[in-house]
Amino acid sequence: MSNAIVPPAPVAVIGLGNMGAPMGACLSKAGYVVTGFDLLQSARERFAAAGGRVANDMATAIAAAEVVIMLLPNGRIVRDAVSAMRPHLRPGTILIDMSSSDPIGTRSLGEELIAAGIAFIDAPVSGGVRRAVTGTLAIMVGGEGIDRVEPLLSAMGKSIFRTGALGSGHAMKALNNYVSAAGLVAAVEALRIGRKFGLDSALMADILNASSGKNNTTELKLKQFIISETFDDGFPLRLMAKDVRTADDMAHALGIATPLADLCAGLWEAAARELAERANHTEMIRYMERLPKP
Ligand code: NAD
Repeated sequence: MSNAIVPPAPVAVIGLGNMGAPMGACLSKAGYVVTGFDLLQSARERFAAAGGRVANDMATAIAAAEVVIMLLPNGRIVRDAVSAMRPHLRPGTILIDMSSSDPIGTRSLGEELIAAGIAFIDAPVSGGVRRAVTGTLAIMVGGEGIDRVEPLLSAMGKSIFRTGALGSGHAMKALNNYVSAAGLVAAVEALRIGRKFGLDSALMADILNASSGKNNTTELKLKQFIISETFDDGFPLRLMAKDVRTADDMAHALGIATPLADLCAGLWEAAARELAERANHTEMIRYMERLPKP
């Protein structure tokens, strides 16, 4: 596509946490001129130490950017960050929210921006830190004008799915994480029951993975992070709790009965309240171990 944004176009990455830092590095590696910004000085320093270019304020970070990519904790923070950047955006800059934001908030923010002539796309990701580092994320993209940013998305992801109207990427991401979160709870409950009955943990994981109980947790988390008790895959529990709540809120807004999502949202939120702020989502087992016996 002739007006596609290709290297060495200037790109800003706002939010240099677990995901933003490696995704920014993938864009640099592809030849884009990336400037990163994070409110936290420690995050900026880490990005710079890894060879990235950082700005110390939002206005400088986005001044030259043709595309601004956001990897922020939630949609409310994205809205605040967009308000901070609006007076400094150069005409024609495209904003892409790659965070896992609430789709209803995305729609309303997008309506405001598009009315003001600012292009806005939602492109949340799945695959975690590991696939952010290798540039092999799954990306769910909603909105108009995606062709122009496809080369950037391809630098960060392996599978790029066009989900439809603005907000549809965020809707799909929340639903994906609900399914993942429910699967994790089921796997952890089965592990705890099996252990107490006398089954071997690693053998349980092998059998689940060769059987119909296999899911993302049994394949990629049970042995790696839960049975090994390393709990360090880079996805914080508070973010998973947010995503499950987003999916459940969507169900309520749409008038759909979802008893399991209701339970699951409450369970993940309770775990987020109970465990440390920085707890990894695989530490859900620690919360479950503290629950009173039935
Ligand atoms: P994180 O908490 O590690 O990073 C977020 C960063 O944003 C922090 O460094 C924070 O200081 C910064 N920040 C907050 N407000 C800011 C602002 N106004 N301006 C600039 N910087 C600001 O989170 P993460 O794990 O990188 O996740 C980012 C998004 O990606 C979240 O929405 C999350 O749900 C989603 N996500 C995370 C993973 C994962 O495995 N970690 C996977 C898929 C999607």
